[in-house]
Amino acid sequence: GQSDNLADVPSRSHAALFLHFKRPVMITEGKMQYLYDERGRRYLDAFAGIVTVSVGHCHPVVNEAIIRQTQLLQHTTTIYLNHQVAEYAKELADRMPGNLKVVYFVNSGSEANDMALMLARLYTGNWDVVCLRNAYHGMSIGTMGTCGQHTWKQPMPQGFGYHHALNPDPYRGAFGDDGPRYAADVADLISSATPGKVAGFVAETIQGVGGAQPLATGYLPAVYKMVREAGGVCIADEVQTGFGRTGSHYWGFQHQGVLPDIVTMAKGIGNGLPLAAVVTTPEIAAAMAGRLHFNTYGGNPVCSAGGRAVLRVVDQEQRQAHCAQIGAHLLTRLRALAAKHDIIGDVRGSGLMLGVEMVKDRTTKEAAKAETATVMESMKDMGVLMGKGGLHGNVFRIKPPMCFSRQDADFLVDVMDTALA
Ligand code: PMP
Repeated sequence: GQSDNLADVPSRSHAALFLHFKRPVMITEGKMQYLYDERGRRYLDAFAGIVTVSVGHCHPVVNEAIIRQTQLLQHTTTIYLNHQVAEYAKELADRMPGNLKVVYFVNSGSEANDMALMLARLYTGNWDVVCLRNAYHGMSIGTMGTCGQHTWKQPMPQGFGYHHALNPDPYRGAFGDDGPRYAADVADLISSATPGKVAGFVAETIQGVGGAQPLATGYLPAVYKMVREAGGVCIADEVQTGFGRTGSHYWGFQHQGVLPDIVTMAKGIGNGLPLAAVVTTPEIAAAMAGRLHFNTYGGNPVCSAGGRAVLRVVDQEQRQAHCAQIGAHLLTRLRALAAKHDIIGDVRGSGLMLGVEMVKDRTTKEAAKAETATVMESMKDMGVLMGKGGLHGNVFRIKPPMCFSRQDADFLVDVMDTALA
């Protein structure tokens, strides 16, 4: 992913990076929803470091918590207790529904999903995992196989028997928004491609890397039932959808009215700090009894202090309600833009987790990949940073820090309008 002009500068050409732009920006500073480059130019950040800076770049409350903890205690590992990790686990568990009360701390989304798969395997004794086409759950050896996009897989042996079900994609799928019809494919997979028993099922409720794609209505309740009947556990990947971002609910899985057995979280949990967690029930956690859970940095006191500050800010600044309000306004404006530009095939999502899919033709839905890259680059030159995703790289992903304002939303849409024109 090295760009031409970075390669021209020897001192900048050694980092193996996955850069988003042909003419990349060198970021030197961040303040809430804005980033600044080395020339002092301001950018509106509508991608939040890939949906990670949840409450805002260098948010003062998070900063204060991190700085204070840095001066007290920076690291012990989980072989001792520290106040931050103990309090944090309780605060996270308090925000979970049902009996999801045991928290394991790790450092990244991939590690969290690895841990979830391992728990599923230990608890059920089964080996097969059902996941979705178009899914993304990480780049570790264990999670890579769950990804349903070839772009993220490397040719090497992987850790489970993975089975990819039809993606319940209301825009491109054969059954529109009829979730239970897609779910029938999971029953078929379980009976044909597994011994009839599975370790588990893993999915996001709104696929993030897959292009801000919500699962068809009623899909998860039907699939959770099938998976449990086959002896498996249900894993909700909340790495992108958690902590109020989707507006109407704190957790993504609540959009489909289901209660998972294991929930994984990362990214927005730490506002950019390397922090991730797996939350499960005492029954499933008991599968680890007599075994070791060890993670050198998991539950690090500085990251835990930052994570606790994120929880406080989301509550005190009412970020969930804010996401619902600004997201609704943004959706309305983006839909008006779609009425003006034929190249926009679909506008979707919830709260501040939105996608705009670009197509060459609204009937064939042929992906407008090059055009997406061009518009994104041109918006960057006009001061707006967005993400892109989807298997064909033709979906704009709008997932800003949750402090994104109505004025920011209007500015983004106006700049997109100019770039599209
Ligand atoms: N799950 C989801 C839904 C993700 O979007 C990502 C990262 N894009 C991961 C897991 C993996 O997280 P990490 O990059 O922190 O390993």
